[in-house]
Amino acid sequence: MYECPNCGGNLKFDIATQQLKCDYCLTQKDPYEITKEKDAEENNLFDVTVFTCPQCGGEILSTDTSIAEFCSFCGASTILTSRIRQEKRPSYIIPFQQTKAACKQAYIAKMRRAIFAPDELKHEKYIDGFRGIYIPYWAYSVSQKGSVHLKGEKTYRKGDYVYTDHYDLSGDIDAGYHDLSYDASSSFSDTISEKIAPFDVKGTKRFTPSFLSGFYADTADVDSRLYRNDVIRLANATSLDAIRKQAEFRDVTITDKKTAPSLSNTLHTVCPSPERTLYPVWFMSYRKGDRVAYATVNGQTGKVAADIPIDIRKYLLGTILLALPVFLLLNFLFTFKPAFTLVLSLLLAVFTLVLYLVEINQICRQDLRTEDRGFQFKQFSNETDSEGKNHGKEKIPPTEFLKYGKGFLGSLIAILLAIWIFIFNPVSDLWYYGGAIASLAGVLSTVMAIIQKYNVLATRKLPQFDRKGGDDRA
Ligand SMILES: [Zn+2]
Ligand SMILES: [Zn+2]
Repeated sequence: MYECPNCGGNLKFDIATQQLKCDYCLTQKDPYEITKEKDAEENNLFDVTVFTCPQCGGEILSTDTSIAEFCSFCGASTILTSRIRQEKRPSYIIPFQQTKAACKQAYIAKMRRAIFAPDELKHEKYIDGFRGIYIPYWAYSVSQKGSVHLKGEKTYRKGDYVYTDHYDLSGDIDAGYHDLSYDASSSFSDTISEKIAPFDVKGTKRFTPSFLSGFYADTADVDSRLYRNDVIRLANATSLDAIRKQAEFRDVTITDKKTAPSLSNTLHTVCPSPERTLYPVWFMSYRKGDRVAYATVNGQTGKVAADIPIDIRKYLLGTILLALPVFLLLNFLFTFKPAFTLVLSLLLAVFTLVLYLVEINQICRQDLRTEDRGFQFKQFSNETDSEGKNHGKEKIPPTEFLKYGKGFLGSLIAILLAIWIFIFNPVSDLWYYGGAIASLAGVLSTVMAIIQKYNVLATRKLPQFDRKGGDDRA
């Protein structure tokens, strides 16, 4: 807690004025003027209260010691345990620009369009649960300076001959890339950070702990080396592209190796260790059964990203209201031949089967967080090099696939039935009509499963953070 010099009350960061403000006497102070004894810049550390969720092990940091009554990661309403710890000081911060009221409005505007969403997601009581959390990022910089020599060639045809001219391209490069930022928290999903990106680095300020007063922060637990090669590759590719676009080089193909590290040598690429920065995010979680959904709002720009599950009752009602007139109209306009009806239901069955399998594949990927490199890094840091390589591309085992349900059976049986009827080609039309009806019933059961699975896809598995002994990083 930061004490008000006037009355001893609690100073908190006020978004509207970008100043610290006393709850009690409304005194305003510049954040840089207010420090605690232990905030001293020299030792590179500062004191924080660490709140830990007893259910999922999720951690959030605060400079206040007041009680936290719910967990933002798993949505549990429970008193979080707290203790004091020293944390590494970030270098920079983008302070919150969007007030909680503005964030709530942006969220409500988005949910107004989500007509099939459960009503709870639109209740004021729920919406008030938005919590301001600073998410840690690694901000990398790259510089490239010096003389560059590249080999190139140009091929052209003259009569029956193909000529290749060879070139030595020389020039000077002076390129700088700043604030290439990557999610430094394994608990904050990469998919969320991508959806609410970008942050405008022009709003970046030098960090001082009092900015956190009244807010929370997530821990930076992803190794800063994780994204280094990505950053270098990106800088090299961008610079090479810029060189290629120079008028003099237009028709020349650059034949030098285009991969790191040889290209890094050619371009004099230097990438020092990244800076710790904090970006502001309004964060809310919605828990239903063993699934959790997140709503996030970019605390600087107000961009909203939300997991929106479907209320099945609302959805079915909507579909029936829409499908009934379409069906009646079709029935009125066309008379279907028996074989054609069966072909139609066969196609539907194939379509829904594929849709179901694609969906299950997505659910598996999301639950195993195969594309989340920060998370994969934490999970497998013992088994891989610092880059957390390859875990994103692993194939999902079929057993994992089946665990997610057998909703595909309806469509599969429908397909087999239709093929069986076509092979035996019975004389009576009734076989075809009966087969079509049975097939459609199978398709319908798969469609129901697809909607249910959609809700799984729109939400997340309850998190479980493995903090290994808790105090070891203090
Ligand atoms: Zn005061
Ligand atoms: Zn929790």
